Amino acid sequence: MTTARQVIKCKAAVAWEPGRALVIEEVEVAPPKAHEVRIKIVATGVCHTDWEYLYETHKGMKSRPFPLVLGHEAAGIVESVGPDVTTFSPGDKVIPLFLPYCGECERCQSPKTNHCRKNWENAQVGVLADGTSRISCKGQQVYQFLGVSSFSQYTVVPDTSLAKIRADALLDKVCLLGCGVSTGYGAAVKAAKVEKDSSCAVFGLGAVGLAAIMGCKVAMAKTIIGIDINPEKFEKAKLFGATDCINPRDFSKPIQEVVVEKTNGGVDYALECVGSPVIMSAALESTTDAWGMCVIAGWTETESISVLVEKLLMGRTLKGTYFGGWKSVLDVPKLVDDYMDNKLKLDEFITHTRQLNQINEAFDLLKNGKSIRTVIYLRGPQETDGPSYAT
Ligand code: NAD
Ligand code: ZN
Ligand code: ZN
Repeated sequence: MTTARQVIKCKAAVAWEPGRALVIEEVEVAPPKAHEVRIKIVATGVCHTDWEYLYETHKGMKSRPFPLVLGHEAAGIVESVGPDVTTFSPGDKVIPLFLPYCGECERCQSPKTNHCRKNWENAQVGVLADGTSRISCKGQQVYQFLGVSSFSQYTVVPDTSLAKIRADALLDKVCLLGCGVSTGYGAAVKAAKVEKDSSCAVFGLGAVGLAAIMGCKVAMAKTIIGIDINPEKFEKAKLFGATDCINPRDFSKPIQEVVVEKTNGGVDYALECVGSPVIMSAALESTTDAWGMCVIAGWTETESISVLVEKLLMGRTLKGTYFGGWKSVLDVPKLVDDYMDNKLKLDEFITHTRQLNQINEAFDLLKNGKSIRTVIYLRGPQETDGPSYAT
């Protein structure tokens, strides 16, 4: 029996209020409206930004309305499409995107940015183009985090925020390309444009930082220094290509001085993948003063960094990156191809897998530094349309 044009009842992890654990609830997911697509989420990663928004919303994140369904790093299958959707059909494998690509605006046409603003303001406050969400619970509207909401068995997204990927893609792996891995990898190869034989320092060795290391290695950097206060991350960092790993807590002087001394004057590229203003300044100062490039991938929305002007005057560059600079709808399918062709690692990021009802455990693992990525399966193994889609 087709579910198209029907309201679908399914399970989702609902964030009722900041600072409180997610609750598995039955939610109702409305059919897609014009230029929208309803997707069955098969697998989702759990990103630091999800955790940060739930537990640090008053610290570094702007206030967004609750209740909401978090999750923005996922892969799934199109269930049905709304009116005027021409590029997707039921059964297509897809990756929903928190960054749109409309293909028509000035920004989409420009090679200088990936920051399309289609439906932007609405997505930031958790609603779709008509100002409402498609998810509700107990008669109440539930907001869609960044317009995605992948901690739900079904969700609805705009057709400009969805990448169609190849039919043989492994959904429980390529879900990571919806955020963390694409961001870190792109921070190195697209934003910093790391060069052959250069020296790099990557601050923070979570999924974003490890992907940045992978990018530095693919770009054939000569020296890749991984920096983290959790030395348990070092083994993985070396696997991804770090040539050295250092723990700032092993030194009495600031980490930037350690890096500058170690590299005779500073690295060519520093990539901040922590999300801390103090580390952002340290990353900038660990680059060579003449041409050092510092790229910020770590996320904070309300905090400032302090930079001595003199630190920039000799020629350093400081820039940020959103989703690694990739044009989302166009580039994500190519990254999927790179993974399927063994040119890009993804499996190595996945340290844990869990079911939807264990999602709070995934947050604990991330926060306690025990996981890189936990992949959540949205359906139990007993259900025939569950993880088997991934094989
Ligand atoms: P994560 O929690 O898995 O990793 C962060 C790492 O930083 C951890 O290994 C932690 O031990 C380390 N760390 C903490 N304090 C440190 C310090 N003082 N010095 C060195 N290392 C330190 O997080 P993640 O999922 O890899 O995300 C990293 C950051 O990237 C977050 O801020 C996240 O919100 C952000 N992010 C940004 C984008 C974007 O588009 N720019 C996309 C995804 C994630
Ligand atoms: Zn993310
Ligand atoms: Zn656009």
